[in-house]
Amino acid sequence: MQKGNKPLKKFGQNFLIDPNIIEKIIREINPLEKETIFEIGPGKGAITTEILKRSSDVWAVEIDFSLFNFLRNNLKGIKLLNLDFLKLNLTELFKSNKIRVVGNIPYNITSPILFKLIREREVVRDAVLMVQDEVAKRIIAGPNSKDYGVLSVILSYFANVSYCFKISKNVFYPKPSVNSALIHIIFKQNKLDVEEEFIAVVKAAFNYRRKMLKNSLSNGIFKNCDFKKINFDLNKRPENLDVNDFLKLTKELIRNNCW
Ligand code: SAH
Repeated sequence: MQKGNKPLKKFGQNFLIDPNIIEKIIREINPLEKETIFEIGPGKGAITTEILKRSSDVWAVEIDFSLFNFLRNNLKGIKLLNLDFLKLNLTELFKSNKIRVVGNIPYNITSPILFKLIREREVVRDAVLMVQDEVAKRIIAGPNSKDYGVLSVILSYFANVSYCFKISKNVFYPKPSVNSALIHIIFKQNKLDVEEEFIAVVKAAFNYRRKMLKNSLSNGIFKNCDFKKINFDLNKRPENLDVNDFLKLTKELIRNNCW
């Protein structure tokens, strides 16, 4: 970054400044020589520089032109893109080549990034990401707990996720207001022929997490659907369903022409 440039809040810029934590993150990623590593938001290159010492096929996408320009002048042997990650088509870019995604990602777009990775999981082997600690806890939560929600259900179908460790806000500049955590997502590469419908049902059900399914579903996209013939207990609340219940509910809604 050029001198005088302030970190931009709108791009969620909180740069890692602690070498110990960077080393711990690199150990979890464990980038190998032949692997394709793809970093979201390299910033000033705190993680990137270490990855470049280990892998020969390193890509990074940075939305901020001044940071992109700084990296272009300072890092050798990297494929750099000056784009919005959310607008990038990974499947087209990498085709049958599997990539490993890493990043200290901007927290305001955590959900869109995760959904994008799920949709493009055919080319993504795994993702090691820094997210808000609260979000990491929601991602790994199981049914019947207050943290359980859309991301917990959907990720548990498409991936195995582990919570690696908590990261203090003190290792960033500027210091964010919340703590972070590192998570490791390993995609299962399973197919689901009702993927879009499944995601839509989970989102609709959790739109009103305190309400019974019959109320939350009829409030949203299924408002014209006749629920009488549905073979599923719609008096339940979303936090009491596990991922298989959600799949069963999705199939019942399809069978009853609710789409
Ligand atoms: N990895 C660096 C920077 C993390 S801050 C470090 O750990 O120090 C998040 C970074 O993501 C910033 O550099 C920001 O400019 C970038 N960013 C924000 N939104 C983005 C988007 N949609 N696509 C790509 N990069 C983005």
